[in-house]
Amino acid sequence: MTKRVVLIGHPVAHSLSGAMQQAAFDSLGIDATYELWDRTPIELAEAVAELRGDAFLGANVTIPHKERVVPMVDRLTDDAHVTGAVNTLTREGKRLIGHNTDVPGFKVALDRLVGKQKMPRNAVVLGAGGGARAVVYGLITEGFQRVVVFNRHLHRAEGMVKHFGRSAAHMELRAMPWHDSIIEAELAKTRVLINATSIGLMNDQSPVPAEALHGDLLVLDLIYAQTRLLRDAATAGATVADGELMLLHQGAAAFTLWTGQPAPLELMQAKLAEARAGGLRSAEGEPAGVAADAPAAAASAAD
Ligand code: NDP
Repeated sequence: MTKRVVLIGHPVAHSLSGAMQQAAFDSLGIDATYELWDRTPIELAEAVAELRGDAFLGANVTIPHKERVVPMVDRLTDDAHVTGAVNTLTREGKRLIGHNTDVPGFKVALDRLVGKQKMPRNAVVLGAGGGARAVVYGLITEGFQRVVVFNRHLHRAEGMVKHFGRSAAHMELRAMPWHDSIIEAELAKTRVLINATSIGLMNDQSPVPAEALHGDLLVLDLIYAQTRLLRDAATAGATVADGELMLLHQGAAAFTLWTGQPAPLELMQAKLAEARAGGLRSAEGEPAGVAADAPAAAASAAD
């Protein structure tokens, strides 16, 4: 019987994950299909219940469901438990296990961004959704000493900081209100800036004013595209990276969880690049369409 793996999100059309996962199944002769399920929050529980059937190897969960799915599974792995976010599901009989492969994916991306330099100790994180939770946990475990989180809705950032209370007891983890002047003041004393909001995914906006960026910054945008933030940061002389490596490595880890086999990384990376060049968009917060006035870079390659 052909096995099924699904991506549950809203919206999910034209997934980059579909391209890399299907190619990986096919190349290893695994009889499985990767399907896109667009499910609204109200439809999520029913979709998750369906995954308990024998045909399913598991699923990916993406924007905006990563936190909402947590109480719907039977067991959480450590990374999923500690972040309070799930991006991958596996099945053991009728039981569903929630994993968070964004955590290792983010760490690969951070390591590559920092390169041979000493790992910095201060970071600013923009966003407080499911992706941001993996980012903040990754920074905590990398030994960062001060992490400041800005989010449009401050209460969500405060909730995330509270959630990490015990894991972050040895360091300073703070939520701050989203004001350009406060963000600028924090960036002036920070080495690492991570964008974990979806600002820039659908349009050519940046979450921070260009003047706030400086040449000592290491900037990672989780969106898989040359976003305005990354372009402004590069102009300021900063070191920049987009979300490609995180997307690739979270996907590779998920593949191994579903199949028990090492992921064909090179092939998956090539398929991502191919899909990106073809204008497909990511599984990770996928817009339904492209704004007519979006510039070519963002329009063709958002995440
Ligand atoms: P969520 O829906 O859980 O969170 C969305 C975040 O973006 C929230 O912090 C939200 O703020 C913020 N946001 C959205 N729109 C706006 C806006 N107009 N102004 C200000 N803030 C806004 O999504 P995820 O955390 O799952 O994903 C967030 C981003 O990270 C997406 O772009 C996704 O593509 C990317 N991502 C990439 C990954 C990769 O592998 N490369 C992995 C995971 C995520 P608020 O709470 O105030 O609504």
